[in-house]
Amino acid sequence: MGKIVVLGAGESGVGAALLAKKNGRAVFVSDGSQIKTQYKSILTENNIPFEEGGHTKESFFDAEIVIKSPGIPPWVPLVKDFVERGIEVISEIEYAYRFAKAPIIAITGSNGKTTSSSLIHHLLVENGVKANLGGNIGVSFALQVATLPIPEVYVLEVSSFQLDDCVHFKPNVALLLNITPDHLDRYDGKMEAYAASKFRISLNQNENDVFIFNREDPWTAWGLKELKRSEASKVSFGLNSGGNAWRNEGKLMMQTGDSFEIESLKILGPHNQLNALAALLALEAFGTKVSPDALSSFDPIPHRLEPVSKIKGVHFINDSKATNVDAVKYALEAMDSPIIWMAGGVDKGNDYQELKELVVEKVKAILVLGANDEKFRTEFEKPVFTLSSMAEAIRKSLELAESGDTVLLSPACASFDLFKNYEDRGEQFRNEVLSNQE
Ligand code: ADP
Repeated sequence: MGKIVVLGAGESGVGAALLAKKNGRAVFVSDGSQIKTQYKSILTENNIPFEEGGHTKESFFDAEIVIKSPGIPPWVPLVKDFVERGIEVISEIEYAYRFAKAPIIAITGSNGKTTSSSLIHHLLVENGVKANLGGNIGVSFALQVATLPIPEVYVLEVSSFQLDDCVHFKPNVALLLNITPDHLDRYDGKMEAYAASKFRISLNQNENDVFIFNREDPWTAWGLKELKRSEASKVSFGLNSGGNAWRNEGKLMMQTGDSFEIESLKILGPHNQLNALAALLALEAFGTKVSPDALSSFDPIPHRLEPVSKIKGVHFINDSKATNVDAVKYALEAMDSPIIWMAGGVDKGNDYQELKELVVEKVKAILVLGANDEKFRTEFEKPVFTLSSMAEAIRKSLELAESGDTVLLSPACASFDLFKNYEDRGEQFRNEVLSNQE
């Protein structure tokens, strides 16, 4: 058995290295940047050799398998070198899959992965099923396979980058929530390529497996028509009546006859109703009943339309995780009061066309975080204020908002200019709001 080389020592890379070590393989970990202390200690404790701050190519061309971090694009010369030498390059999800001994429910989509995966996990656990949540969220799949007892089912959030390097990965239940523009820089600007990557979640499924999809999503419809089909049973959800699950008269309805009151949900907006319908179908596919109490006891996840507080009648909502235009569209749609919209950051080539009508209808003013305010000024005919810190932005929002309004942080952009990441941006929002409360 040849050596396993792990490129990138983050959550997934370190998990993969541990699993390889547990399997008795020679392992070498290489990271082009500095490795976080917590991960370095795990590698050291487990006697796994590593390098950081650069790659010494020559030392690992004898690799049999390369496990590549999802953050590394396929076109970097190092990865191309491996491929040209016929060395297998796979993702950590694929590697862990080869050793996992429990069924898998896997979730992908441009938006809603974390919410839906967490909800599915919650519904399973509430029903007494021993389920592990992981993948692109929390503990990596490989680390779970290497170190945790075998559960009854793995619930895995998977990104398109992880799917790109999967070969045999075959979930028993696969969910494709939606496909809207995101990460197009990794797909040569082509939606077709990005959509095909998402569809890989179902590629290896057979007739005993279930593929759950949003029947109202245009790019999913495109994929179902144009891409190679798997043998899985197809099960669909949507807001309008039809398929296997839908919304009607304030209820989430299942073809089986079960129904759930929307009013009892703590997660807000039509996009969360879609997430809930998808989750209910996943539980049905897995053969587990859902009680209305289990569904209504699920709390919103931080930074996803998370209600923070109310100051002088003004609601503050943290949707820092909304890093693309589609997520913002749903956030604006979910609001039924006038909005002070807090946005901005690093633009990933955003097209704001889709938001224009909603902004005219619902937004009173736009607060842009960071200097990147040009598009907001040219695309929208609303007052735009440019702020250089969260503290300033919250102060401005308090000046502008009247009782009954909502201040919504839903940035449509990545966060790396003023903040460490989206969590930092959301936490600063929350802390500033709370510190302005009497
Ligand atoms: P992901 O893990 O795919 O990034 P999250 O559940 O973390 O998804 O949500 C990310 C953002 O997308 C949040 O702003 C959230 O409100 C929004 N969102 C959640 N579900 C959906 C959906 N089904 N469609 C569109 N936007 C959604």
